[in-house]
Amino acid sequence: MKGLYIHIPFCESICSYCDFVKRIPKNNRMVDDYIDELIREIESYRDHFASIDTIYIGGGTPSMLTIEQIDRLFLVLEPIEPIEYTIEVNPESYTYEKGERFKAFGVNRVSLGVQTFDPTLLNVLNRKHRPEEVDRTVRHLNDIGIERISVDMIYAIPGQTMDSLKSDLDYLKRLDVSHISYYSLILEEKTVFHELFRKGELHLVENDLEAGMYQTIIDRLSALGYDHYEISNFAKPGRQSVHNTLYWTLSEYIGCGLGAHGFLNGTRYVNHSHISNYRKPWVKESYETTADERLADELVFGLRRLEGVDLERLERNYGIDPFRRYPELKKTVEDGLVEVQGSFLRLTKKGLFYGNQVFMVFI
Ligand code: SF4
Repeated sequence: MKGLYIHIPFCESICSYCDFVKRIPKNNRMVDDYIDELIREIESYRDHFASIDTIYIGGGTPSMLTIEQIDRLFLVLEPIEPIEYTIEVNPESYTYEKGERFKAFGVNRVSLGVQTFDPTLLNVLNRKHRPEEVDRTVRHLNDIGIERISVDMIYAIPGQTMDSLKSDLDYLKRLDVSHISYYSLILEEKTVFHELFRKGELHLVENDLEAGMYQTIIDRLSALGYDHYEISNFAKPGRQSVHNTLYWTLSEYIGCGLGAHGFLNGTRYVNHSHISNYRKPWVKESYETTADERLADELVFGLRRLEGVDLERLERNYGIDPFRRYPELKKTVEDGLVEVQGSFLRLTKKGLFYGNQVFMVFI
């Protein structure tokens, strides 16, 4: 399978925790020019169109594009017939007209940036929407027949309590969407949060409370019928993200747009991330991966999935037993972080909380 990722690097404001490739556009002309260049880059991959299975338009904030910009971008993608077609939406920039355009162009999945329903914490994160706008967006998407809705959430937000997290989970129960991504807040460099932390003005959630929140999320979402299929992802039956699964299973994907990554024919590449450099050749760096690197990637990404990685398949493809290649792997089994079930290697319930410790074995 093959995916196509398209990056829209514009936002109306900058969230305190965000280290993605994004900026506030100077004016609409800047966005127009970017879409022109993006279309040129997408068209350069025209030979791949027939073999693309998933499209994912992410950002940034793709839903802040104007109707005219949406039309121009989607028209170039029309010859592709993906099985999954996702666009990221922020509730404050969603309009009924945009939703109807997405639907008309074949979008069948929306990933909604929510993070929390607590207005105080939304302020802490510098998110601009109100919880009611999430309800309004989900209702309209359902009305127009886009039933595959994923909601992006964050826990361990500075100032968040267990009660606030439980309120978020109650809200999600009412919303009843088909997919939820729930990430813990990570303090990334060059973010507002990082700067506040450096100055001693930001207090992170204690490790014990963070672990308790993760367990609560797992328990509550499982009880609601969500399958916990990846460390941070939960889906109703049959509603797993196909596009993200391509990343986790080392399938090929094309990345278009500012700072986008791609993986084709064993070669990884990354595009320029400064808008002034975004023109042909769009790729800034590329390198051919070795079998050893691919094996490590298979293990790191594969172990993020709760079903784990098939050791027999790895041995067949790479001609080496991962336990021989990574002798320290045995220790993670002895420590109860990883287990072998049949031919599959996977994280244990305890290992879910110590994933990074396990992944270090392969790096
Ligand atoms: S989190 Fe999303 S909306 Fe917020 S600044 Fe980053 S890319 Fe923009």
